[in-house]
Amino acid sequence: MEKYWNIAIIGSGPAGFYAAGELFRQESWSIKVDMFECLPTPFGLVRGGVAPDHQKIKSVTKIYTRIAENENFRFFGNVEFGRDIQQSDLMERYDAVIYAVGSPADRALGIPGEELSGSHSATEFVAWYNGHPDFAELKFDLSAKQAFVIGMGNVALDVARILAKTPDELAETDIADYALKALAESQLENIWLVGRRGPLQAAFTPSEAREFLELQESDVVLEGGLLELDPESQHLLETEASKDTKKNIEILKQISERDTSTNKKKHVHFLFLASPVEISGKGRVEKISLIRNQLVKQADGSLRPQATENKIVEEAGLIFRSIGYLGKPLPDLPFDKKSGTIPNECGQVKDPENGNTLRMREYVAGWIKRGPSGVIGTNKQDAVETVHRMLETFMVEKMEAGQDVKSQDITALLEKRKVDFISFSDWKLLDTHEIEAGQAEGRPRRKVTSVTEMLAVIRNKS
Ligand code: NAP
Repeated sequence: MEKYWNIAIIGSGPAGFYAAGELFRQESWSIKVDMFECLPTPFGLVRGGVAPDHQKIKSVTKIYTRIAENENFRFFGNVEFGRDIQQSDLMERYDAVIYAVGSPADRALGIPGEELSGSHSATEFVAWYNGHPDFAELKFDLSAKQAFVIGMGNVALDVARILAKTPDELAETDIADYALKALAESQLENIWLVGRRGPLQAAFTPSEAREFLELQESDVVLEGGLLELDPESQHLLETEASKDTKKNIEILKQISERDTSTNKKKHVHFLFLASPVEISGKGRVEKISLIRNQLVKQADGSLRPQATENKIVEEAGLIFRSIGYLGKPLPDLPFDKKSGTIPNECGQVKDPENGNTLRMREYVAGWIKRGPSGVIGTNKQDAVETVHRMLETFMVEKMEAGQDVKSQDITALLEKRKVDFISFSDWKLLDTHEIEAGQAEGRPRRKVTSVTEMLAVIRNKS
């Protein structure tokens, strides 16, 4: 009988699926993949992170669905690593495990008042409007007139754009119903995007910035008037700036030259060279204090922000910090707190507390491997590297398929533990249900946002 290598993948986002796809591409290896996901729904940040008005980006799930249809692939949704299954359960049943769990937490600003009501992480707002069941019950005070989004990355721009869009613009998307309703009643007038460095150092990409020029009922303003760069940034722009950076500057120039006397209801302000230093208010957010920065050249040539004496204090009813996602530790795995990643060498887990010994059967892919950077496609090359490292290790160590497997199939264990796991065909029932419900309203889908309801839909249809 043919001997298969059994690989478990934890997480069903892009990194997990690209790893599965690469495993199945290996013609000289017989491989089976079991993928575990804590939600009943697959696709990680493509469902729960990519903005609802970016449907084209979400179509990448067609590629993942084709991978899932491989006869040697099984999906176990609604199964949480660390709660329903442990590392030891997997080590007893699989030849190797790939952890592709992403970076579910967020970085803190570390300033006074950050914990006040009305101050949120972008991560939770994004998960809320995307209908992630763990965040569906959150409340955001959209009766506020001014919101501040701290950070100049693509997530910050997503948050500002969703806040700036009209109910009509949002109604064409698959935004969660409750978020559509709450945002339709929003009283926001001013949405500030705050970058600690200058326009040349903005982390967003041009296509995301360009979208602000096309908003129906929102003006976009570059604070400080016409775009001006400091001499060092101007020099970098002319010598070594990337294509994207040059495009960003062109778009910001267009923004700075726009006529803003259009009486639109909302205004998005790009404010560069400013850092929040304090959030204040009685029991909830009322004000934000920002310090203006200047850029100072470092020994490595980079331009870092340095505080000046110049302070701004503004009324603020809502604050979103969008300064990067952060990985969380997993039980029985090493973790590097500073980078929020699992220490690894080319995707192979290594133990810093044990002389950096490499673990032969444990691997990582995606943001938990390299940190929260890059676009969806970046996870492909990342996962390919991990898979090849794993197969090379199998060969170099002369490992054999099944040599460490001591226990029966995982389904028996899940059944014994009464875990209500769902398969990929179960998910497809829910997928069809959501798409049909959306079509009736001219929307791409209407998301089900509670696990209980997801399971009920699936069980009713199966
Ligand atoms: P990001 O791109 O790393 O941006 C983080 C932003 O936070 C930067 O502007 C950074 O400024 C700022 N920041 C960091 N620490 C700060 C601090 N202490 N105070 C003030 N500002 C601070 O992260 P992200 O926006 O969370 O996005 C994560 C990844 O997902 C990125 O690779 C992004 O491109 C990707 N993504 C892509 C899309 C898309 O393609 N449409 C959408 C969403 C996300 P400095 O530069 O000064 O450090």
